[in-house]
Amino acid sequence: MPAPSLLPTDLRLDLNEARALDAAHPLYAFRDAFVVADPDEIYLDGNSLGRLPHRAREVVAAAVDGAWGERLIRSWGEGWWEAASRIGGRLAPLVGAGEDEVVIADQTSVNLYKLATAALDDRAPRTRIVTDALNFPSDLYVLDGVARRFGGRLEIVPAAADGVHADEAAILAAMDDDVALVSLSEVAFASGYRYDAERLTRAAHEVGARVLWDLSHAVGATPVDLNGWSADLAVGCTYKYLNGGPGAPAFAYVRRDLQDRLTQPIHGWFGQTAPFDFGTAYAPAPGMARFTVGTPPVLSLLAMEPGVELVREAGIDAVRDASVALTTYLVALVDGRLAEHGVRVASPRDADRRGSHVTIDHPDGYRLTKAMIDVGVIPDYREGSGIRLGVAPLYLGFEDLWHAVDRIADLLAREAHRAYDDARATVT
Ligand SMILES: *Cc1c(COP(=O)(O)O)cnc(C)c1O
Repeated sequence: MPAPSLLPTDLRLDLNEARALDAAHPLYAFRDAFVVADPDEIYLDGNSLGRLPHRAREVVAAAVDGAWGERLIRSWGEGWWEAASRIGGRLAPLVGAGEDEVVIADQTSVNLYKLATAALDDRAPRTRIVTDALNFPSDLYVLDGVARRFGGRLEIVPAAADGVHADEAAILAAMDDDVALVSLSEVAFASGYRYDAERLTRAAHEVGARVLWDLSHAVGATPVDLNGWSADLAVGCTYKYLNGGPGAPAFAYVRRDLQDRLTQPIHGWFGQTAPFDFGTAYAPAPGMARFTVGTPPVLSLLAMEPGVELVREAGIDAVRDASVALTTYLVALVDGRLAEHGVRVASPRDADRRGSHVTIDHPDGYRLTKAMIDVGVIPDYREGSGIRLGVAPLYLGFEDLWHAVDRIADLLAREAHRAYDDARATVT
């Protein structure tokens, strides 16, 4: 694999080098678009909850004071009604979709339920769903529930023996003409493994199955080419690399030629052809509207748009280039400074097969996580996988990563993590 273009081939891993790399980092100025409450804190959890864009504060203030406070019900006719499809259209190019193929609605888990059910209805009498062990637990629960509802079963293909990589050969082997749906996360939440989505989509189509991608850990950090892959369905979340805010509504994608052929199980008035006729019979609206259900959380919906716009402005290919350079640099730092203290990289080393976070493993991982937070390095911890270091390219630079690893190395050298207890908090 060629060295990522923003990185020299021989890294010295000193602070001056990190500063020089930031000076050449084409997206460095984007950090100014975000609220940074404590400049000394290094935020490595943008893969779980992205930072607050300054612009989102203004949008929310205007929506509360002006649209809600003054205009009240009239605001539905002044932008609220169309917001879910309009913002979906803005998000669409980030996932390689047409503007009329994406809508914002509900949560990722709910959209997964709606689209998986639509796929099983469409593929009847097939009832088997294939996924793998690297998929997000909520996805596994939802898919299992859907398969059972149809009298079928969810097949969870084991990961590779290292627990880091997917076993794509085994996933391919599980595809036969009983399979209704193949559903995977394009970037795995724990190890950051990135699938060969095009190949898997093609293979699923060859056996007549539908494919549903969960893009939660990909969108806003890596280019996704849903149309290029001919993917059928996708869902994803907007509060991670899209910086949409806590509980921001999710998105759903349905390939254009399938939209009017599929129906989803929750027949609500927002998905109805003419909601203001208040008729008694449900007739699904054409296009993506039929995949919505009820009134969207308008404030959260509007608050997420600035995050989408920032990624568009940066350009998703430039974001990916920065992400690859930063995560490659972080892997080198972990090898160079932390391996001697018993830390190992638990993410793919091939940047092509990696999303935008690097997971590190240490025998005392949870206590180390607590110690890190106390020295201003904010990661998260995933049971059984390790400490996730999220690298959000719009507001993280090489120097940030250098200081983060320097602080971790210092903690480990002093064995400072041993002073913490191992009891888990509610949110880890
Ligand atoms: C974050 C994430 C979700 C979030 O689901 P919600 O229903 O929005 O809570 C779902 N799937 C994956 C793969 C995720 O990473």
